[in-house]
Amino acid sequence: MAGIYLHIPFCKQACYYCDFHFSTQVDYKEKMVAAIIDEIRLRTEYLQLQKIESIYFGGGTPSLLTVQELELILNSIHKNFTISENPEITLEANPDDLSLSYLKLIRQFGINRLSIGIQTFDDSYLKKMNRAHNHASALQVLPDAREAGFENISIDLMYALPNQSQAQWLTDLNQAIQLKPEHISAYTLTIEPKTVFGVQKEKGKLSVPDEDTAATFFETLQEELKKNGYLQYEVSNFCLPHFYSKHNSSYWLQKHYLGVGPSAHSYNGVSRQFNIANNHLYLKSIGEGKIPATIEWLSREEKINDFLLTGLRTMWGIFLPFLSKELNYNLLTIKEQKINYLIDNQLAIIEDNHLILTKSGLLIADKIASDLFV
Ligand code: SF4
Repeated sequence: MAGIYLHIPFCKQACYYCDFHFSTQVDYKEKMVAAIIDEIRLRTEYLQLQKIESIYFGGGTPSLLTVQELELILNSIHKNFTISENPEITLEANPDDLSLSYLKLIRQFGINRLSIGIQTFDDSYLKKMNRAHNHASALQVLPDAREAGFENISIDLMYALPNQSQAQWLTDLNQAIQLKPEHISAYTLTIEPKTVFGVQKEKGKLSVPDEDTAATFFETLQEELKKNGYLQYEVSNFCLPHFYSKHNSSYWLQKHYLGVGPSAHSYNGVSRQFNIANNHLYLKSIGEGKIPATIEWLSREEKINDFLLTGLRTMWGIFLPFLSKELNYNLLTIKEQKINYLIDNQLAIIEDNHLILTKSGLLIADKIASDLFV
């Protein structure tokens, strides 16, 4: 089983923290949709006839596409790939784009999961971050989506915002919980150098909570969501039982995926491909029938390190026999002292041949993984 990711590289306006690939010029959106459909045709071989179990419209802001544009892309995937019986088909969306009529139409032609970028319910932060939606639309979008028939909804939240207090974070979190989404992704705000926030920070005009404070926000997140029945199945991802994201899990479980559109990445077990992160060069290349991607062949070391980095962030941990048999890396022997340290300090456990991080281990998952690298 494999997945398809579609990068829709347009946004209404630039959020002040965001360094994803997108353009706010949308006048050539139609051309981009046509090119994405062409790339889908050019890429039918990439997944070697594996069945597609998840399709993910990401970006950028895919909810800027019309119902017809989304349907055209989805039809082209159906035409060129074999889709499993119950695929998960997600649309990443911003609350201000989701009218009830739009939601009903996209639900009818097969989109069955929404990932809504709420980030915060607090109007003053929404303004500070230059988000296009407001508190009222963030609250209205879930009831509308339910009315349209969506039974699998994820929302994105952000914490450790400039000068944010624990109490403010808790208020945000509780508003999210009250809406009862099946899935919540929550990320610390990271300040990227080339963004508006990056420049403000550089000039000393932006103050964000320090690492220790961000860690206490993370603990609040873990506790509150656990109390309310959510499982932490990955460092930043929580869901009600059975509602984990098939698509995102496929990245962490080393499944293969095809990424279509400018800046999209693909992975087929032996290499990664990176599409060019430039809309006009992407259009030009696809117009000439060429996929504008660079290829990075993965060495054994890279495969091992990727496996550790992604697997240890999940509640499934890493399957030790896979590491020793497929990648010839006997972690328990090679890193014996480090593993013993993790276990003695309640940072990890070994269960059914899996090395799994505990709640405290997840707090420093990336650091633990890098200590176990080849
Ligand atoms: S809508 Fe999403 S992709 Fe677009 S600028 Fe904001 S955070 Fe970035």
